[in-house]
Amino acid sequence: MPSQVRQGSEAPRTFRVLVVDDSASIRRRVVQKLETMSFHITEASSGEEALGLTLEQTFDLVVSDIEMGAITGVQLCRVFRGDPGMADIAFVLLTAAKEAKTRFWGRNAGADVYLAKEDMDEKLLPAIEKLMEGRSPRDTIRPELTGTPLERVSAVLEHHLFDVVVQSEVRRLMDHVHDRIGFGEKVLELAAEVVGCPYLVLQLLGPGGPTYSIRARGPWPEDNPTAGLAALAIPEQNLGAAHTTIEPDPKFGTGQHVVGGRSHTCEIRVRDEKLGALQVFGGSNVCAETDIRSVELIADALGVVVKSLFLVEETQLLALTDGLTGLYNRRHASKRLEEEIARARRNNSGLCVAMCDVDHFKAINDEFGHSAGDRVLQQIATSLTEYVRRNDIVSRWGGEEFLVIFSEIKLTAARIVAERLRGRLASTPQVDGGPEKISVSIGLAMLRPGVTAHTLIEQADQALYRAKARGRNRVEVAGEERRNKPSAIIEKQDNGKPKQETGKPKQADTK
Ligand code: GH3
Ligand code: MG
Ligand code: MG
Repeated sequence: MPSQVRQGSEAPRTFRVLVVDDSASIRRRVVQKLETMSFHITEASSGEEALGLTLEQTFDLVVSDIEMGAITGVQLCRVFRGDPGMADIAFVLLTAAKEAKTRFWGRNAGADVYLAKEDMDEKLLPAIEKLMEGRSPRDTIRPELTGTPLERVSAVLEHHLFDVVVQSEVRRLMDHVHDRIGFGEKVLELAAEVVGCPYLVLQLLGPGGPTYSIRARGPWPEDNPTAGLAALAIPEQNLGAAHTTIEPDPKFGTGQHVVGGRSHTCEIRVRDEKLGALQVFGGSNVCAETDIRSVELIADALGVVVKSLFLVEETQLLALTDGLTGLYNRRHASKRLEEEIARARRNNSGLCVAMCDVDHFKAINDEFGHSAGDRVLQQIATSLTEYVRRNDIVSRWGGEEFLVIFSEIKLTAARIVAERLRGRLASTPQVDGGPEKISVSIGLAMLRPGVTAHTLIEQADQALYRAKARGRNRVEVAGEERRNKPSAIIEKQDNGKPKQETGKPKQADTK
């Protein structure tokens, strides 16, 4: 049956409705209902016919059957949704099918309303009234629409298939969320397959960030590599954290592409949380529309995957750190010590460890309470972290014991550092409701040939116990037992009477 323009209301600003169904009787039923709303109604008996009509006129609303000949209502709806000129046209899908799969597919086609034909009498008009509320009739005909109906359907389906494949590839990156650097490389590897721009940057925030992964086709300008990175909007202070993959491609030549070109940035988010960004940089060329669309697609699909990366990182961090002070815990410090020892041996550089133990901490707890004691430990952790160099490793070794690993250091320097550290901790700011002053004793040990991590710690421990025995608030160095060895230390007790110290080490409290 040919399409038929019904002379409903000819008033200029009335909604134009396209009713599509291969059954004339169903079309009649729908049209009769819509006539009560004085719409301008056009009928089509197939998807092909409906698409042909869109080349000639514009519509505000489509009411379409799902099961019809070659082009189904679902495909028709996808063509409307996939075309920027028609995407905002209201779309109602009607079906007689009771099958769950048909309903699912209908809902997922992007229709505004999905109705079973059996509910039509009761629900169609209210649904359409609600759908058209606040809308006004479109008044443009879109002359730029071209192609046969089947070409248009297949273009949309191909487009959609591409999106789905890219999205599923992005989800597969889930396999790499245990390692931020590797993950960044994989994301950009995928993006580079889809996007033609020569420079791609991934910014990741979260527990391990901000970090930047960069993938470049062709080299950076040799005279000024950082200018290239800066052009990619990476803050100066983060340049060092950028992980760069150069993919040699002579087509892109050198430097002149980098500065002054065009870039496009898509945020990676989960709901309101910004997780990072994916940026493409076209060099001296403008980024192509299709590239920008692909980047948006990838960034959009990346949200949940990047969130998983952050959750894994958070879990890893929790496993590595101590809850009270936020410092590395003993387990992680032991692992890092092994690594640092191996590195020191490889590079033939010096390594020292300092075991720091708060003096008379039990008395602090007893006098000021356990929570004041906790705050003291937190304050000490802050002082320690602020004091040491960036590459030194500070950890909470046990209850009130802290281990600092100094790398690339000689013993003479380490002794000075440890002495200053002791002074620094003795002047740690007072905590609310805590003691006026605290002090720490430090046992220092240097890595010597053949010594294991375990033995090194033992040596530091023994030096620490000697520091305790020799009066506390002091540094003792392993291997220097004979220096100033006192037989016993006289120390004042709280009651002012001298107390005998045996020099016997106390067992370290470990948590
Ligand atoms: P010394 O000068 O010989 O090191 O004496 P000390 O009192 O510091 O040493 P001792 O090993 O006898 O006591 C350590 C105390 O540290 C005992 C323990 O209750 C306390 N402690 C361990 N972990 C924590 C903690 O997380 N918070 C608090 N508030 N106290 C802790
Ligand atoms: Mg102590
Ligand atoms: Mg102790």
